[in-house]
Parts: sequence; structure tokens; C-alpha cells
Amino acid sequence: MIQRTPTAIEARPQDIDSHSWQQLLADSVTTPEALLQELGLSPQRWLSGAQAGHRLFPIRVPQPYLDRIERGNAADPLLRQILPLQDEAAERAGYVRDPLAEREATASPGLIRKYRSRALLMVTGQCAINCRYCFRRHFPYDEHRLSPSERTAVLNTLAAAPEVNEVILSGGDPLAVNDRLLARWAHDLATLPQLRRIRIHSRLPVVIPQRICDELLAWMTATRLQVVLVVHINHPNELDSQTRHALNRLKAAGVTLLNQSVALRGVNDDADTLAALSEALFESGVLPYYLHAFDPVAGAHHFDVSDDEARQLVRTLVERLPGFLVPKLVREQPGRAGKTPIDLHF
Ligand code: SF4
Repeated sequence: MIQRTPTAIEARPQDIDSHSWQQLLADSVTTPEALLQELGLSPQRWLSGAQAGHRLFPIRVPQPYLDRIERGNAADPLLRQILPLQDEAAERAGYVRDPLAEREATASPGLIRKYRSRALLMVTGQCAINCRYCFRRHFPYDEHRLSPSERTAVLNTLAAAPEVNEVILSGGDPLAVNDRLLARWAHDLATLPQLRRIRIHSRLPVVIPQRICDELLAWMTATRLQVVLVVHINHPNELDSQTRHALNRLKAAGVTLLNQSVALRGVNDDADTLAALSEALFESGVLPYYLHAFDPVAGAHHFDVSDDEARQLVRTLVERLPGFLVPKLVREQPGRAGKTPIDLHF
């Protein structure tokens, strides 16, 4: 039997316990059996596939996210993002372990240089949720675990790179790291005179909104660097009252909030969903930033939305929404100096 914590529906935003996110993370569902039981799905129908996928990329789902999934609904768009399927074991031509060739872009342990003015710092390999479509589902995080001397080496490398004015904290999920360590990174990075911004790519404000705690906001507001947080939300159902409360706290602290989504089959591959997502994001103080074309990662071919389909989706958004609510459709291509916009062919 799973230990349940108060659900998103039971808890009011004002009840958020700013010290409970670590417990929620530790209490995440991590087995196929518990996941199916929690969501009221038949083991006869789903267990063997869930076990097969779990062996390839382990399950991890925290309770606040589970609480937004409709029990017994196998087509729930949030469920599809976290339920392993037999499909993950099928090999498909063109779907590879490192679709963005990040191995070649690794400058040193923990540091990836793809773009001239930005550097990517892998502060942890841990995520709060394991998304089945993740392009880093095969990433060798163990090779990026930083020893104290490697941490110093990263800072020295950045100090010697005057062209880098922005450091992107990535992972894994950088907000899975405790605030003492993050505050230390923020402090040390702020000593580099050329740096203007820290950008954080995280799904934690969505999957465990309690992560937006006083300690996090304290170092974010204390640093001289501008803080940009790019959340990753694919479907409007991922935004509930607690998530909105967490995003409002970030906004009130002066954090710039953007969203990136991935075009995903069975999750958001229709214009109504994407339009509703843009509206819900804006109501929560978040600007839609990118809609990523699907990266062909091994084990996730069943999520693939073709570029033509993605184009059609965004063309429809252009017709329906003001320009600032239309995310840029992009693809990351190995070796390019930035994300590549996908031409909408109007
Ligand atoms: S949170 Fe981000 S890095 Fe982690 S599994 Fe999901 S998509 Fe991948």
C-alpha cells in the first residue's frame, strides 16, 4: 500500500508546506505495480508492458502529479507521459540513444557547450519525474557527477570564456538539488563578471509545486544575476491551483517565466489542446516559448509527431491566438549554433 500525502485537491495553496518537497520527492511512485494501483488501471491489461518499459527507463512519478490524472482513464494525457509501455522495447530505424549528439558537445564533466553565449551546467542527473519521451532517457549522467575539483574546473572554464553570458542549469532537473547547493552555484557564478543570467530548465514547479519554497526564492532574489525559469508543461491539465500558486510566487520574486513543450502524440497533438495550454500558461504568468519538434530518441517512437503535423498545429495557433501566445516551433539539430526554427510554409 502506498503512503499517501495530501493531494493537490485536498490541499489549498495556502497550506503548502515549504519544507515538504523533499518528502514528496522521496515518496514518489517508482514501481509498475504501485503506479497501476494508484491510477486504477488493470494489471492484466497494463502490467507486462509497464514492467518492460520500466526495465529500460525506471518509473518515477510524485504524488502531486499523479493527483491530476483521472483514475481508470488509460487515455489521460498526463498518464501517457509517465506510463511505460511495451512499445518502448521496440527498435525503430532512426531512433537513437543520443539524438542531439550531446556526447560530442561535452566540454568537460558537467559542462556542455552547444551555443556560443550559453553554457549548460549539468548539476544533477536526478529528475522529479521520468518522462517516457525524454531525449535524455539514455544520458550517461554518472559521467557528469562532479567531484569538488571538477566543480572548480567548471568554474575556471567559464571564467576563461568571456563570450558566455548565460549559464543554463540543467540535468536531470536542477531543482531536484537542495537550495544550499544551488545557492552556492548562484554565488560562485555571480563572481564571473561576464555572466548576466542564470536560466533554469525545470519540471519541478509543475510536478511538485511545493518545491517553490522560501529557501529557493531567497537565493533567487539575492543573486545579482537575472533568473529565468523555463518550465516544461505539455498539457493544460498539468496546471492546477498549486502549480499556479507556485508560479505566482516565482513571478512575484522577479523570475522571468517561460514554457517549453514537446509535440507529443496522444498528449498535445491537437490545436485545441495547445491553444488551451497557451491561454492557461499566460493566466499563470508564463509565456509560451518553444514547441519542440519530437527528438527521435530510442524507446519513444510512439510519441513522434511529424514536422508536417507540428507545422499544421502551429499554423492553426497563429490563426487563433495573439502572436505572444504562439510558441516558436523549433528543432534542435546537432552542431547548429542555436535551435532551428521550423518554417511554417504559409
Ligand atoms: S523532467 Fe525533463 S530531463 Fe527529466 S525525464 Fe522529464 S523531460 Fe527528461
